[in-house]
Amino acid sequence: MTGFRLAELRASGRLCTFLLAFSAALLAAPCHATALRRTHPSSSSSSSSRGGVASLAALRGAATRSDPILVDFYVFLGTDGDATNVAPRASTNIGGFDNTTGFYRLCSERCPVFTHVHEAGFTSPVMRFCGCIAELLVEDLSHDFGALEPEATFALGDYTEIAAGQDFFDVTDGHGLLHDLLSAAPDSTHYRRPGRLAVWVSNHINGHTEGTMLAGTTLLDQPLYTDSPGPGVLLVGDVSRAGRRLSHETGHVVGFHHVAGPAVDYTYNHPGCPAGTNFVPWHTMSKPSCEMNIMGSWYDGPYCCPSFLQLGHGSTIACLPNSATSLQTPYCCGSSCTHVCPAELPGFTFATQEHGTILTNILRCWLHLRGTAAPPNVPYGGVFFAGFGGNATSGWNNSVMECSDGVAELGSCTWRTAPTLRAHS
Ligand SMILES: [Zn+2]
Repeated sequence: MTGFRLAELRASGRLCTFLLAFSAALLAAPCHATALRRTHPSSSSSSSSRGGVASLAALRGAATRSDPILVDFYVFLGTDGDATNVAPRASTNIGGFDNTTGFYRLCSERCPVFTHVHEAGFTSPVMRFCGCIAELLVEDLSHDFGALEPEATFALGDYTEIAAGQDFFDVTDGHGLLHDLLSAAPDSTHYRRPGRLAVWVSNHINGHTEGTMLAGTTLLDQPLYTDSPGPGVLLVGDVSRAGRRLSHETGHVVGFHHVAGPAVDYTYNHPGCPAGTNFVPWHTMSKPSCEMNIMGSWYDGPYCCPSFLQLGHGSTIACLPNSATSLQTPYCCGSSCTHVCPAELPGFTFATQEHGTILTNILRCWLHLRGTAAPPNVPYGGVFFAGFGGNATSGWNNSVMECSDGVAELGSCTWRTAPTLRAHS
């Protein structure tokens, strides 16, 4: 029984893999080419956005809880094939929702685009990251978090392209770079400023094991304290819009764990928040559903589980035939699958039936803490994490929960030790 349960959990985790892989299926072709860099459309587009937001903030003085949360993009330039000093590649996905609202459809007039000619003779477009994509990513943050709490709004802050060296462009150690970035001093070009969300964008980020790639990585539970460095996310440039990876990583920043997969020992715990939001025990999905949560999903798709442990399992529930060698999606694995959901997947949302309420409570606490002073000696000067086992003091001993999410599948959140940095302001 235990063995089957483990297999079921692994299979459900694998489901997330394929659901997220959809949006990555039509990424830029894995090739290198000469990029003819156009004039810098991202600079002009971002400066106009930045000017509008900054002037409003200046008029109001310090940010208040009703102001949008500013999101600063630090985009690392590097060498890509024969092209030097170029921005990371961006998603050219035009499948599914991205055919109408994807980055390529909406930004290919503003971001640098060139055609790559493959050896076989066919061509494919390549687009580079620019301010247009940053604007849409921020728009999605407001949309996705606004579905839980309308007061959660975001606006583009600074958009900066930085030639920091190839190690920041093609990242060989995602964990190491994340912690270097989090430790950046106030005079650094990519410092995470207090009260704002920093998004560092690279072209490629190696995972923790051979041959794996990260789409994003960050720390769990980073409040927007007024006197401490702000939260930060390391993101790869070619995430698709439909995949909602920045919203996912920002969900970790807010304090969301993964909602699908094996049970996790996590309780969101901030005593300074209002009742109902200051202590939120976590649970993962109890059964599959027809919804797709940004923090993970277990979709009750019409196809049978392709695992040999589940095919011919004797279930009386009808499912469409599937096999590992000719994979059909979306499928569902686990004894609680009913295979009733449509083959066409819905869009991602935080506000799913099973987790909408607890995500809302955690988000409200995060918004409540905005602008408050950081407790003393929190790791990195801005990470609270006090959730382990519900003990409000055990998480402060220079321990943080680091979440690393792959390109092909969501990853895990694991404990790391971190230096204690005091506020820089
Ligand atoms: Zn994650």
